[in-house]
Amino acid sequence: MNPLRSAILAAARSDRLRSTIAAAPPTRAVVDRFVAGETTADALRVARALVDAGCAVSLDHLGEDVTDAAEAGRAVDAYREVLEAVAAAGLADRVEVSVKLSALGQGLGAGGEAVAYEHAAAICAVAADAGTTVTVDAEDHTTTDSTLRVVAKLRETWPWVGAVLQAQLRRTEADCGTLAGPGSRVRLCKGAYAEPESVAYRTADSVRASFARCAGTLLDGAGYPMFATHDPVLVRVLTDRLRATGRDPATAELQLLYGVRPDEQRRLVDEGHTVRVYVPYGTQWYGYLMRRLAERPANVAFFLRALAGR
Ligand code: FAD
Repeated sequence: MNPLRSAILAAARSDRLRSTIAAAPPTRAVVDRFVAGETTADALRVARALVDAGCAVSLDHLGEDVTDAAEAGRAVDAYREVLEAVAAAGLADRVEVSVKLSALGQGLGAGGEAVAYEHAAAICAVAADAGTTVTVDAEDHTTTDSTLRVVAKLRETWPWVGAVLQAQLRRTEADCGTLAGPGSRVRLCKGAYAEPESVAYRTADSVRASFARCAGTLLDGAGYPMFATHDPVLVRVLTDRLRATGRDPATAELQLLYGVRPDEQRRLVDEGHTVRVYVPYGTQWYGYLMRRLAERPANVAFFLRALAGR
């Protein structure tokens, strides 16, 4: 892995850097590029604008790696508030939510998985009432088994719960086969976490090749694939394949992150694809922002310029 990317991903887990960077006022300009704002109202405003522009949306209330049960409970409250607001705004057919199990207590010791399941189930129940869906984000590889167990359990009651698989993990091709059944919603992404060679492909070409193989498995299956990438090569492969098979655009999604390649979002909508934009909001933006910076050296330069006040 590129040393700059490794260093930034390590910084994403540093509490000391988190407080130093969060205290620097010019950081705001960088945050605003990738994060919709801090409040439910901010999230709704951005979601509505994207829906008006022809996109679907997945709202992510920022937070991860919570260290106490009360914080995990507050995350559930935030999701309840935003889901009720989505329903009240009449946006439930276009706007869902994404959740991270580490924000819901997954890492809270031995019982963490059960705590995260209970919290995720509470969110799914509100989403069902609101008339929308929930997708469970993928985090680092040490959580994959636990996360997929929770998703499987949630799907017993809410079969529409989405799973996320990361093409950089060597296990993912097999996971795609397991999860490609009827009705199964699966988001395929490259993976945003620094992973060891023993479990992950580590070069850009090998990750891209894995993504293409995994996408093939999902497209051959009976589920609902959601392809989350900004990579122009992969977007071309995917759109060619969707076009060549004459697939109904309503049976698969292309997904992008808020603030990344907005021109491409518009182009894909104009081509008739179902496009969903992942929109993070809230005050806990540090880990998310650092992962976005790690993906692209140009973003680091943008960030450093903002910190220097230029
Ligand atoms: P890259 O090779 O990183 O990028 C290709 C090109 O896209 C770059 O050359 C650049 O032009 C553009 N680009 C990419 N990233 C940026 C950026 N940050 N800023 C500006 N331009 C950029 N990862 C997880 O581990 N778990 C998840 O649950 C998860 N959910 C995701 C949901 C969505 C909708 C998306 C789009 C991504 C998600 N990711 C998730 C992140 C993903 O794993 C990658 O880290 C991220 O998408 C970058 O990979 P890429 O496929 O876009 O390709």
